[in-house]
Amino acid sequence: MARSGLATGDLGAGPALAVDIGGTKIAAAVVDADGTIRATARRPVPAHRPSEVSPGGREPGEDGVAEEVFGALRDCVGEALASAGIAADAIGGVGCGCAGPMQWPAGVVSPLNIPSWRAFPLRARLRELFPERPVLVHNDGVALAAGEHWAGAGRGVRNLLAVTVSTGVGGGLVLGDRLFHGTSGNAGHIGHLVVDVDGPDCPCGGRGCVEALASGPRTVHRARAAGWAPAAGQPADGHTLAAAAAAGDEIACRELARAGTAVGAGLAASASLLDLEVAVVAGGFAQSGPIFWDALLAGFGRHAGLAFVQRLRIERSDDPGRIALRGAAAFVLAPHRYGWPD
Ligand SMILES: [Zn+2]
Repeated sequence: MARSGLATGDLGAGPALAVDIGGTKIAAAVVDADGTIRATARRPVPAHRPSEVSPGGREPGEDGVAEEVFGALRDCVGEALASAGIAADAIGGVGCGCAGPMQWPAGVVSPLNIPSWRAFPLRARLRELFPERPVLVHNDGVALAAGEHWAGAGRGVRNLLAVTVSTGVGGGLVLGDRLFHGTSGNAGHIGHLVVDVDGPDCPCGGRGCVEALASGPRTVHRARAAGWAPAAGQPADGHTLAAAAAAGDEIACRELARAGTAVGAGLAASASLLDLEVAVVAGGFAQSGPIFWDALLAGFGRHAGLAFVQRLRIERSDDPGRIALRGAAAFVLAPHRYGWPD
C-alpha cells in the first residue's frame, strides 16, 4: 500500500527493516521512506514447552530457547529481505518494537510472554546482523504510537496516545509532534494509570490500574470468579468471553463492559493530563465487540468533564500489525520526530 506525503526529511541511506515482537509472534517488514511496506514476514515465537524433550532425553535450557527465539527472528528478517529483493547491506537502519519491559534505550528486553528472554540484549544482537547501521528498539506500544502518527489515524495531529488492550494494557505518546519517551522510556504506560483507588491488585504492584481491570486475562478471571465458565472444550480466554457476551451471557457482558469502562476512564484521565487530540485503541481484547467499545465510549463520556477533554477523538486502529511495523520503521526513517539519541 503506497503512502505519500509523509513527513520524512532526514532519511537514512536506504529502506528500513522494521521488526515487531509480541508475545506470540514475530513480524518483520522492509519499509520505504514514504511508508510503503515492500514485503513482510511472520513467525510464531518458539515456545519452551516442558513436554518437548529432545530425542536425547535432554530438555533444552533456557539459553537454548532464547537462541531459538532469536533464530526465528533472524529467519523472519531474512524472509522479509528476500521477499523485498534487497540485500542486508542495502538496509539503511533497523527499527524494532518489542513487548516490554525493557531497558531503554539499551534495548535489553524481558518480554513477559517470552520467558526465555530475560535481559536479552536484543539491540546488540540486531546490530550484529546489521553492523554500522542505526538500530533502535522501543516498546511495542511506542512503535504503535509512532506508526499511528506517521501513517495512521493520527496523521496531522500534534498530540496522540496509542493504547493496546490485550494480555496487558500498554501505550505510547506523541506530544508536540514528536514521540515522547519520558525519563526512562516508559511514558505512555496508560495500563498503570489508576482508575479505581479501591480496585483490585495489579501485576505491577499497585492497585486499581487500568490493566488490573481491563486486560483480557484479568477480565476473564473476574468473570470466572463471578460464575462464568466457557463451554466444554473452549478455552477460558478473551475471545471466548467476548463470544459469550455477544450471545447475551449476563456475566460476560457485565465484565466486558467493566473492562471497557476502565479503558474509557483511563483515556479521560490521559486527555485531562496531556490535552490530547486523538487516542487510538488497538489490541486483540479491544476487538471484543460493541459491548466493550460502547462501554469504553460511555466510560470516557462519564469521566470527561472539561470541554477540552470531551473533544478527544477516539479511534480504533484499523490495521495495528502494519501500523506498528511502520512505526518501528519511522524510528530510523524519520528520526527527527520518532528517533532518539544513541
Ligand atoms: Zn498497575
